[in-house]
Amino acid sequence: HAMPTTLLVTGAAGFIGSNFVRYWHAEHPGDRVIGLDSLTYAGLRENVADVLDASGGLVTLVHGDIRDRELVESLLSEHKVDTIVNFAAESHNSLAILRPGDFFSTNVMGVQSLLEAARTVGVGRFHQISTCEVYGDLDLDDPGAFTEDSPYLPRTPYNAAKAGGDHAVRAYGYTYDVPVTITNCSNNYGPYQFPEKVIPLFVTRALQGQELPLYASTKNRREWLHVIDHCRAIEAVLERGRVGETYHVGSGVEADIETIADTILTELGLPDSLKTIVPDRPSHDRRYLLDSSKLRTELDWAPQIEFTDGMRSTIAWFRDNESWWRPLLGRSPVQETTAWQK
Ligand code: NAD
Repeated sequence: HAMPTTLLVTGAAGFIGSNFVRYWHAEHPGDRVIGLDSLTYAGLRENVADVLDASGGLVTLVHGDIRDRELVESLLSEHKVDTIVNFAAESHNSLAILRPGDFFSTNVMGVQSLLEAARTVGVGRFHQISTCEVYGDLDLDDPGAFTEDSPYLPRTPYNAAKAGGDHAVRAYGYTYDVPVTITNCSNNYGPYQFPEKVIPLFVTRALQGQELPLYASTKNRREWLHVIDHCRAIEAVLERGRVGETYHVGSGVEADIETIADTILTELGLPDSLKTIVPDRPSHDRRYLLDSSKLRTELDWAPQIEFTDGMRSTIAWFRDNESWWRPLLGRSPVQETTAWQK
């Protein structure tokens, strides 16, 4: 798009949000980007420090909460924000089992508060970042995939809270004409992913010569997408997506947890014996797979980073950026190597 615009990117200091801010500034260097992040244990200013420094003030990061309506309204009106992209969320499924209240507070009520601010001040677009996990899980041998019309059947507190947030987004679209769009994306991987999530957990443990803790259902599988392909999909929906619509973002590439562990061990030249089985977490979904043909046909999106290449470059990034992840070890409230407690 030609005219420079102003974006409010919430959750900008997290994994996908920080990659999006970096991507957006590179692709749209004239745009203003205001990041908003409450800097939970998973949000780090240094994830965007390079862009903040290089942007000459065009990219900024505000330390604040999406549930603070006064703050959000003042940011929207003061900076004449055109587009909100909402990444802010409690995102760790395992932590949700221990602290469900935080998840419902941010992922449902936080989204509603942000929508209320958007409706009060008025914006050109409210884009919600959602997940394949709102649909519940698939049988391992199910030939089908979730479409944009599949029913929401979440099974965990994280999924249920994300589902609640999405429902609020649609309700504000229908009821108050807030110009909303939603993307539901499959599992992301790439640089700056917090080392509590499975790929960075396995990679950082392998780099330290430690065992990789695999949940007992090692054949459970996920659809993997490189974070930059996700950023490109969001860009396509912001630029060309139809208001009121939902678009699925997925690679179609599935790999089970054991295959992920094997890939990492092989790449780093480490022995198979580092794999160790730990008890499953409760309501561990078996499988998710998205039908992303709507985004591919209507908006001409396709993933550009092949899974093997993406894994190799991600492993290399973690190998080269130990100073980023080393201080984060032990910072997650959940340690996956300990047995599960409900
Ligand atoms: P993340 O945990 O790395 O980042 C979330 C960010 O939100 C953090 O920086 C955190 O500080 C911030 N935050 C949390 N609560 C907040 C609040 N109340 N106010 C302001 N900021 C707050 O998570 P992520 O993996 O980058 O996920 C980003 C979004 O993408 C989430 O909405 C998640 O549901 C969605 N998503 C993630 C994946 C994935 O595989 N990681 C896949 C599909 C969708």
